[in-house]
Amino acid sequence: MVAANCLVVPFASGQDSANAVESRPGVVPAIQILHTDHGPNSPQALKAHYVVLVSLDGFRWDYAKKYGATHLLALGKSGVWAPEGMYPSFPSLTFPNHYAIATGLYPEHNGLVANSFLDLQRESEGKPDKYSIGDAKAVTDGSWYSGVPLWSLAEKQGMRSACLFWPGSEAEIAGERPSEYLKFDDKVDESARIAQVVAWLKEPANSRPHLITLYYSDVDHAGHEFGPDATETRAAVMKVDTLVGKLRAALKATKLPVDLVIVSDHGMVKIDGPWITLDTFADLDGFETAGALLYGKNEEDRARVYNKLKHASEKFEVYRRKDVPAGLHYNENEREGDPVIVATGPYAIRAHGPAAGKPDSVPVGQHGFDPAKMPEMKASFFAMGPDIVVGKKVAPFGNVNLYPWIAHMLGLDAAKSDGSLNILAGTLRDNGESDGGSKE
Ligand SMILES: [Zn+2]
Repeated sequence: MVAANCLVVPFASGQDSANAVESRPGVVPAIQILHTDHGPNSPQALKAHYVVLVSLDGFRWDYAKKYGATHLLALGKSGVWAPEGMYPSFPSLTFPNHYAIATGLYPEHNGLVANSFLDLQRESEGKPDKYSIGDAKAVTDGSWYSGVPLWSLAEKQGMRSACLFWPGSEAEIAGERPSEYLKFDDKVDESARIAQVVAWLKEPANSRPHLITLYYSDVDHAGHEFGPDATETRAAVMKVDTLVGKLRAALKATKLPVDLVIVSDHGMVKIDGPWITLDTFADLDGFETAGALLYGKNEEDRARVYNKLKHASEKFEVYRRKDVPAGLHYNENEREGDPVIVATGPYAIRAHGPAAGKPDSVPVGQHGFDPAKMPEMKASFFAMGPDIVVGKKVAPFGNVNLYPWIAHMLGLDAAKSDGSLNILAGTLRDNGESDGGSKE
């Protein structure tokens, strides 16, 4: 996630609905918690277990072993882990994947097809047409998002939820907001985040959230700036591993039945070569663009640019959107643009170069590539708790399958998704077979 440089300020937008939102200090006064006016946990929710879902942004599947992240490896031994990693959805970017995990929907179904993209249909309806993760107005506007994220699912079924950062958690989606959430501010102290999670779990049972999300960005930042093999990245891995150790101990001390699920959104690869700039191969006049996404105004332009780019470089493939290979799940949503560019290796691709005089450096590390073709894109998965078997390793699986799995642990009826409970059922003590909702 790109640091949005948000200051801690009371939430100003999004109060135009039935969900009244109020800002109060959290366990650490510097943390402002946004409270949604929800009722107590339902009698059924009171009987459910707890899930703490943690994202370690950019924590590549092999970092734990590569750098000796002892707390994560121990956690995997006490529960389940994916030693060969978990497949992010394409594109392997932060917002599309956090929201794929939250909804069980591929990016083209969940609405977030990239970190920044356009929607020409919205433009024609007179609505804002650009989504960008640094744009607080877009990020908090629920009309960009599809599906029923886990926190909305919980709230709809009478279970309280709390998000200490997660893409999408600041918007009202499917008619709901988390009972408690924060405006994204990566400067919030990292140990204080754990203290806040514990404070939520110490609330009286009626108000205590059963689903809690938590987020750390350090490893992604280090990977971009220094690359996956750098000592700085190792240091970031060790830092978040220490936080994981603290979190695990703190959760144990609550004596509550908490399933701890630790994932990442994607991996990281060292970029090869300079920027590849598409407008040096084809005249993009008449196109709107976002990153390497290309939005042609008419069929003639789209066909012209497709033909120009088709044999322009071995470093990318170009497809008419309808022809994008099915395995990428990236051919159904107009937000993907047309034609669609897919890098064939670790290459940094963009439509246009920067304005004159603006910096033009290539990041050392990057992600976003096809996880099926580039193992460096695979993400991490570790989980343990009362619902999870001990000492099981799972083969790589698609991250959309986490949604029905987490819903099951909470006893919630999952909304329709691209994931299946079958994929991870063998990691559950009940094999995914009980009804849920009646766990003691
Ligand atoms: Zn990143």
